[in-house]
Amino acid sequence: MAQLQAYREQQSEEQQKLKERMGKIKHKIAIISGKGGVGKSTVTVNLASAFAAKGFKVGVLDADIHGPSVPRLLGLEGQHVKYGPPGAFPVDGPLGMKVMSIDFFLSEEMPTIWRGPLKMRAIRQFLVEIVWGELDFLFIDLPPGTGDEPLSIAQLLPEMDGVVIVTMPTGLSSSIVKKAITFAERMNMPIIGVVENMSGFICPHCGVKTEIFQSGGGEKMAKDTHVPFLGSIPIDPKISVESDKGHPFVIADKDSAATKAFVEIVDKVEVFLKK
Ligand code: ADP
Repeated sequence: MAQLQAYREQQSEEQQKLKERMGKIKHKIAIISGKGGVGKSTVTVNLASAFAAKGFKVGVLDADIHGPSVPRLLGLEGQHVKYGPPGAFPVDGPLGMKVMSIDFFLSEEMPTIWRGPLKMRAIRQFLVEIVWGELDFLFIDLPPGTGDEPLSIAQLLPEMDGVVIVTMPTGLSSSIVKKAITFAERMNMPIIGVVENMSGFICPHCGVKTEIFQSGGGEKMAKDTHVPFLGSIPIDPKISVESDKGHPFVIADKDSAATKAFVEIVDKVEVFLKK
């Protein structure tokens, strides 16, 4: 009985802390996808960078426990959390961004071999124990699919502003992403819209666009499921080169077609938040 009482007290203390920590963050936005490799983490770090470049205070939470890629995409590989009296502090990233990932607790090559409850606990601690401070935005990079991590985030952050869904212009991606849409709807997470990534290749020499995959799949899927379409980002070899160097393309390559398309997506996210 005493144990149960202690457990309940600990739970309510944690709940209070969660409210306090998350109450200091104005907007929380999750980025999800149906399957891996569609550019979800790339979209996350570039959305975060675009808002940080506008002067907003931005945090990025890499909630992908098994495949964290945010540290690499922001040039923060090998960094570790620092501890202080109020808790653990996020790592300082480019443009003043505050960044947190499971990678900052482990060595780079160490895989996380964790079952559901442990992953859910880690996600909770990212929100409760990390000293995020006052932020305008927290962008949360969720692993692909509809597993433990998205479920935890949805339950812990009922005040979430919305989710951005990333897909690719193929029939397979579109059909899988529909599941992500249904998941967000079931969890009562507002859908900001769908981004179609790797949408055609613009030749850097002649400027002609080639549809490597089918075109318009993301837009059609958005229409069919009555979800806003935010825009398409073309395939650009420079994106992967800059990403590997830890440079978000929206900052590193300001004049590219991909950046121009991305800026329009950012504008639509801002309009959504003002509604
Ligand atoms: P996910 O998070 O969905 O698994 P990532 O964001 O890690 O996908 O992207 C997978 C790979 O594709 C990375 O190497 C990234 O640099 C590359 N990539 C993403 N979007 C583009 C794009 N529009 N053009 C070229 N390469 C891209």
